[in-house]
Amino acid sequence: MTAQILDGKETARLLREELSVEVEKWRAEGGPQPTLAAVLVGDDPASQVYVRNKERACGQVGMASRLIRRSDTTSTSELLDVLHELNEDSQVHGILVQLPLPKAIDTHRVLDAVAASKDVDAFCPENVGLLVQGRPRFLPCTPHGVVNLLARYRIELAGRHVVIVGRSEIVGKPLANMLVQRDIGFGPKYANATVTICHSQSADLASMTRQADVLVAAVGRPCLITVDMVKPGAVVVDVGINRVDEKLVGDVDFAAVREVASFITPVPGGVGPLTIAMLLRNNFTACELQQAVGDATIAN
Ligand code: NAD
Repeated sequence: MTAQILDGKETARLLREELSVEVEKWRAEGGPQPTLAAVLVGDDPASQVYVRNKERACGQVGMASRLIRRSDTTSTSELLDVLHELNEDSQVHGILVQLPLPKAIDTHRVLDAVAASKDVDAFCPENVGLLVQGRPRFLPCTPHGVVNLLARYRIELAGRHVVIVGRSEIVGKPLANMLVQRDIGFGPKYANATVTICHSQSADLASMTRQADVLVAAVGRPCLITVDMVKPGAVVVDVGINRVDEKLVGDVDFAAVREVASFITPVPGGVGPLTIAMLLRNNFTACELQQAVGDATIAN
């Protein structure tokens, strides 16, 4: 069996197209232009590329973006002031703090300072809590991209065993929190999974991954998932992004695993493009929610 490719690039293009139609309609009806503020600290080249891509993507769907740059000598309290200003600014709907922050900065304090209603990455404790309780305000971007991609290809999750390798706050844990819910907005078929999370301390990783109907790798180690670790017919989602000899590769031995899986995401062109599309979706949701609260306040 040669697996069918889950085309994240095309799925992301379709999602952006859908979103730009919604944004256009929203604006035609008098809504404000959804605006995303990105806070970039220091001059890490990869972070600069990510932020530039996010700004470009905003433009593609009719949203505005604002870049707030600070040097890597900025203190935690100076960054908190920046966030306070953005939180108060009614023309900014979403705020993202590009990670990683310089080591001297208290990342948790900074992320916690983003107003929950503008926390389009869904990192703050309130938004994480709402997700765990099954009533998310925003779905975290990369996990949301994974589910969107599976749903587009009608790969159902209900009752199936999903094994996630990696327990980060950005991918592994929030994805698990989403998949165990009864419904996260795609209908019950695309939730209700039985989820196992594996991590660096898991014993006999291969025996766990071989049980997966759907295997998600989110570690950051090239070729961690080899063909003997995959059940024939499994769906394989590779979230990893690694640079090897100037080439981008995932965590999965793509060439070999492709021969046993039923569906597989490539790297690049798999989950990556969806992450930004989901960020834009959250920014639009943030704008809609803030407008609704504003309208309610005026009505009162
Ligand atoms: P992280 O470093 O925060 O977490 C990695 C996880 O892997 C940890 O939970 C750790 O326990 C686990 N791990 C490490 N070694 C392991 C091993 N030998 N066996 C099993 N588990 C092991 O990483 P992250 O932020 O979740 O990112 C993971 C990968 O996904 C990276 O390559 C990153 O670049 C990529 N990523 C991609 C996107 C995207 O949009 N496609 C978004 C976020 C992260």
